[in-house]
Amino acid sequence: STHPGTTDAPASAALLERAARVIPGAVNSPVRAFRAVGGTPRFIREAKGPWLTDADGRRYVDLLCSWGPMILGHAHPDVLAAVDEAARRGFSFGTPSENEVLLAEEIVDRIEPLEQVRLVSSGTEATMSAVRLARGVTGRSVIVKFAGCYHGHVDALLAAAGSGVATLALPDSAGVPTEMTSDTIVLPYNDIAALEETFAARGPEIAAVITEAAAGNMGVVPPAPGFTDALRRITREHGALLISDEVMTGFRCSRAGWFGLEGEAGYAAGAPDIFTFGKVMGGGFPAAAFGGTAEVMGHLAPQGPVYQAGTLSGNPVATAAGLATLKGCTPELYPRLEATARTIADAASAALSAEGVAHTVQWAGSMFSVFFREAPVTNYDDARDQDTAAYGRFFHAMLDAGVHLPPSAFEAWFVSGAHDDEAVGVILDALPAAAKAAASA
Ligand code: PMP
Repeated sequence: STHPGTTDAPASAALLERAARVIPGAVNSPVRAFRAVGGTPRFIREAKGPWLTDADGRRYVDLLCSWGPMILGHAHPDVLAAVDEAARRGFSFGTPSENEVLLAEEIVDRIEPLEQVRLVSSGTEATMSAVRLARGVTGRSVIVKFAGCYHGHVDALLAAAGSGVATLALPDSAGVPTEMTSDTIVLPYNDIAALEETFAARGPEIAAVITEAAAGNMGVVPPAPGFTDALRRITREHGALLISDEVMTGFRCSRAGWFGLEGEAGYAAGAPDIFTFGKVMGGGFPAAAFGGTAEVMGHLAPQGPVYQAGTLSGNPVATAAGLATLKGCTPELYPRLEATARTIADAASAALSAEGVAHTVQWAGSMFSVFFREAPVTNYDDARDQDTAAYGRFFHAMLDAGVHLPPSAFEAWFVSGAHDDEAVGVILDALPAAAKAAASA
């Protein structure tokens, strides 16, 4: 069902061959390998603003934005200056340093219920630590997650739904022993009844529910009205914590992430206990965080009994990049991102409609994705029920025309503040032929 691609990329192909000898599958993160769409992944040698330049010297408008972090565009001058300045003062100290304080203050300032954050180096570390903290705080073991939500490659969260609601979760990867997922329950996203049933049966065992604040890892599937609020209400009724994973949505959907966007209505029953962040807050460098109230975070070492640590946590260069990026995430940025995204999505939808290609566009702030199916998507079963082969043809036609989309139908499309008229123009010009390719089964 994959497409070989039509444009030669000889320098990328040569690097791919060399990479395959020394790097498993030639990539350091699986989805980069183009398995879902076929063809040769482009080795990028340089990026500036909205543009990627590959090893063959071809330019692409970037709608991947490093899977979210590059919200200001690549090599933004302010971020570059901050990184340069920080790097000149040393790369890593293994001691506390001022940048950590500044970044933590910036994050805490943006999200009202947050009092403290602990800095880590990846989204995976953030969710892994959030789960440990929730278990430590509650003294309980069971974690509830939702099918189609991705929280990094944490053993306990690499779980797939077993048969039937609220059954034992099954490992979703080799190398994850069943014991590692036997305390994980996987439920359908946006299904309040399933959640209520599960808590009625096992409430006293449940440490936490972890959810993507708005799902972005099955394509964009926002919480249905009332879902977020129900999560809060039900967890609180049963003494379980709510972990809102904002690794993708944080500082992307609004200056405070999905929490800021959904606002009062979504969180009427109260704020999540623990938030996780990554991507944007690192500005393209390895920085991530988890946080909550001082009471909850006080359970962490060295104050409390829940151990968590990192040699490079709060790295002075990564935190400088993150801080400069967040400073650039001004209130004015978000309407601009939304307008750019809207222009692209509307044009994509019009082009696909003109060719009779079934599709539906879904949103979480400026984050959106195009599902190749007619009906709206509310959960993972819906998301999987789409024409991924059509996406592969569409993807490659766009790539040929100089637009780099995410190489999978299950991913959000990301725009940046650097996507200007020229970049958007390249996308709009590419869409009609790509829609035709999608239609040509
Ligand atoms: N949570 C969410 C919601 C994510 O989107 C991701 C990454 N796509 C992660 C966690 C894991 O982050 P990382 O890849 O930095 O480990």
